[in-house]
Amino acid sequence: MIANSKEIVLKVGFEIHQQLLTKTKLFCNCGCIEPENYDSYFFRKLRPAQSELGSYDQASLFEFSKMRTIKYYSSFGSSCLVEADEEPPHRINSDALETALIISLALSSKIVDEINVMRKIVIDGSNTSGFQRTMLISLGGYLDVDNKKVGVQTICLEEDSGKLISDDGNIKEYGLDRLGIPLIEIALEPVTGTPSEIMKIALTLGRLLRASKRVARGIGSIRQDVNISINNGIGVVEVKGVQRLDQLIKVIEYESIRQHGLLLIAEKLKKERLENIIADNVREITDIFINSQSKTVKKILSNTNHTIKAIRVKNFKGFFGYEPYPNIRIGKQLGELVRFYGFGGIFHSDELPNYGITEKEVDKIKEILEIDDKKDGFIIIGGPKERMSVAIDALCKRLEIVKLGVPSETRSALIDGTTIYSRPKPGSARMYPETDVPVYNIKNDLVLSLRKKVPKSWNETITQLSKKYKINKTLSEKIFDSIYFEIFEELSLSTKLAPSFIASKLTEDVINLERQGYESNNLTKEILVDIFKKIDSGQIAKESVFPIFEKLMKKEVTSVESAINLLGIESVSDKELDRILDQIIEDNMSIIKEKEFNSINILMGKSMASLRGKVDGKKINDLINKKLKNIFQSDN
Ligand SMILES: [Zn+2]
Repeated sequence: MIANSKEIVLKVGFEIHQQLLTKTKLFCNCGCIEPENYDSYFFRKLRPAQSELGSYDQASLFEFSKMRTIKYYSSFGSSCLVEADEEPPHRINSDALETALIISLALSSKIVDEINVMRKIVIDGSNTSGFQRTMLISLGGYLDVDNKKVGVQTICLEEDSGKLISDDGNIKEYGLDRLGIPLIEIALEPVTGTPSEIMKIALTLGRLLRASKRVARGIGSIRQDVNISINNGIGVVEVKGVQRLDQLIKVIEYESIRQHGLLLIAEKLKKERLENIIADNVREITDIFINSQSKTVKKILSNTNHTIKAIRVKNFKGFFGYEPYPNIRIGKQLGELVRFYGFGGIFHSDELPNYGITEKEVDKIKEILEIDDKKDGFIIIGGPKERMSVAIDALCKRLEIVKLGVPSETRSALIDGTTIYSRPKPGSARMYPETDVPVYNIKNDLVLSLRKKVPKSWNETITQLSKKYKINKTLSEKIFDSIYFEIFEELSLSTKLAPSFIASKLTEDVINLERQGYESNNLTKEILVDIFKKIDSGQIAKESVFPIFEKLMKKEVTSVESAINLLGIESVSDKELDRILDQIIEDNMSIIKEKEFNSINILMGKSMASLRGKVDGKKINDLINKKLKNIFQSDN
């Protein structure tokens, strides 16, 4: 799906949230660790005062009204009374503050004189206190991307939210281990460019952060919120939760097409329908469907609290289903919209009769709504009575602005790079001073002393890495960008293995398998260290790394031992190896006599057939060579 890029001018702003690599949390002494098990839990119902919600719109009030019971899980060591909101926050973690200041310096951002911790209201239950603590560290500055300056707006230090474990519609469950981990939030000025140019900015910023060696790595440790608009449109769409660069580029591409599609729909509508688009006539039509054969309708009506309504949309016939790009249509946007209010979706007139809804039923609806068959369309929506009016209100408002093109809203990024409506764009959240944490004055000599710790440029970092481990620059970049960088450094120091070997296995082999669709999440640190230590001690051959990765990533096994057993690559002792090679030579003596040293390829082939993965190929080659020399020397 490719839009005509000449017709689309993209404008993208980033807000990057990066977890810092500190031993303890931002406002207490708990460790920033993910526990294997939680050892206790408690329940809460969050009730922020109405006045605190301030300028929140109707959608926020709705979200708040459906607030359910929240179950928080905790474990000793990763959360304490501060996370449970039973004890005030302690002083700001000085290590985290130092990192935020160093990154501000690296981006030439102007550091504030005094740091005030603020409370930002959150209403989704992700924080036990009902707000997130955040502090402004610096303003302005820029990021150098291929000699072009991308402006920095603000840099803040804040606490991460609780980790959503599940949400079944009644009880939301959060893990408290992530709550309070320090995050740096960097907001960049919006820039224009192609999706790949924009991805380069995110890559450059990510690399600068990693070059500080003071940030966490791994999936989930960096999250980006991306503001995307096209063609100077007034609608700014905020996409939340982008975790990977390949996902980022897909999200930008998808949004540019979706938004361009909405603009094309608006243009066509303005050209063809001079009258206003109004959703005006709303009627209860549950009775029509009492004996309906439609599975969806039956499911809706199986709940006695549910009702079905139809809405006439004047002058909209043909526009629910019109697709300027595949799958980009107003009908789909409306379906996503009502899901926010807890409905399964909608039916619209351009797709009916269908889904078990008959022509007869459609005719009855048209009659009730007084539809002008030439011009008008309609929507059917079914679900809980008490939420019906707020959902219909949202649908009507959305339809009124179809002619304007792209509405401002918040969307969620899905792994495949598409986005889905998540909520209306909130007004800026109100902030209140956090009176439990004293104001922190930034001293000049602290800032001066931190200048020495500002990370080197990317080029310098890579050159240094390449020299230190004697690996080429491409491999240096790959391993430095990898989530396994710390493991690589540790293994390079603690084993006799060549760093280039470790780096290429941890990058190229893993990427190769990921491209085949396997996930690397069970290549944990323990497992990787285990594999490389076994190679280092000669228990398994270098060749067995890839097949072991493969078994683990295909989830056929969960431990290195069982992968080794399954692959039959238990180690072969030197004595045993000697015996096997002697046997192969004896069996092939006639070929050896005929071809002399040229027989080595045949002998290697036969040896590898039985020893692949168990013994290093080079070692076999050396031994066969030695044995052949012995044969021909003794013959002479
Ligand atoms: Zn704590």
